[in-house]
Amino acid sequence: MPPFPSKNTILIVDDEPVNIRALEIVLGDEHDLTYATTGEMALEMARAEPQPDLILMDIVMPGLDGFEVCAELKKDDKTRNIPVVFLTAKWETSEEAKGLELGAVDYIRKPFSPPIIRARIRNHLELKRNRDLLENLSTLDGLTNIPNRRRFDEIYIQEWNRALRTKSSLSLLFIDIDHFKNYNDLYGHMAGDDCLKAVARVLQSSLGRPADFLARFGGEEFIILLPDTKEQGCLHLAENIRRALKELHIEHLDSSVADYLTVSIGAVTCNDVTQCDRSFLLEQADKLLYQAKHEGRNCVRANSVSCKTN
Ligand code: GH3
Ligand code: MG
Ligand code: MG
Repeated sequence: MPPFPSKNTILIVDDEPVNIRALEIVLGDEHDLTYATTGEMALEMARAEPQPDLILMDIVMPGLDGFEVCAELKKDDKTRNIPVVFLTAKWETSEEAKGLELGAVDYIRKPFSPPIIRARIRNHLELKRNRDLLENLSTLDGLTNIPNRRRFDEIYIQEWNRALRTKSSLSLLFIDIDHFKNYNDLYGHMAGDDCLKAVARVLQSSLGRPADFLARFGGEEFIILLPDTKEQGCLHLAENIRRALKELHIEHLDSSVADYLTVSIGAVTCNDVTQCDRSFLLEQADKLLYQAKHEGRNCVRANSVSCKTN
């Protein structure tokens, strides 16, 4: 069995083409390799999709050196988790310590031994895969397999900051299943669980853009974050969700609203995030959801918020 189910991509950063060729001979069979001959190019490639799984980098380069590139990579959320291995002829212990303190996972000295470099790279890739797996498990909801509240909190901060930078709108949909307690009581908890999974699938497939983000907020509540989306788009999606659930028609004979499973939705849009704050927007979505419940359920209540004093 091969050591990896699919090939990993390693970004090799070295200003000397001869060094790159030597590494290609040693690692090329086992991994996909990409190359950068300057620190600036390495940063650009590390930030672009698809990202490398590991960076193997020389220290002494004209322009940005390996230490500076590593420091930049560790500063940025997007590149922080890519393991960096230094490969260098610098032999002083203080240099090695500096590299490791900057967040590199390893430091390999030139001239290198091919079997040792192969084994070390393999180990680091394995560790990285395990870290990614744990990270995914801790941010996914175990029942529905969609992101959990914890992940939502992270993404919400990121998208809020993006909206601040780009001066774009941000919308939220707060979605709660109607009379779900009755559903559990009538059909059993297992059927309730299946129902939550089905609702999660409907919500996920209702999303239109890559940045749209769905999470299970808790119990039978879901939240959708819609970056760069105004009132109309937000309302449109909310109504699509109601329509999709009507079509799916999960029987619910102990609902006061319909004979199938329905949801109530609070939809809020903020067109100027500089005048608002994150928790306030979330509170408004919750209030609108409460209003939707109060005014008959199986409906959407929407509003736009531009300022805390509104
Ligand atoms: P409303 O229309 O006002 O929202 O009424 P409701 O019954 O949906 O709301 P309530 O908050 O009274 O009840 C929520 C129910 O959701 C109760 C709880 O047992 C159920 N629930 C929460 N999480 C899960 C879960 O993971 N699985 C199942 N099967 N049920 C769950
Ligand atoms: Mg609820
Ligand atoms: Mg409910």
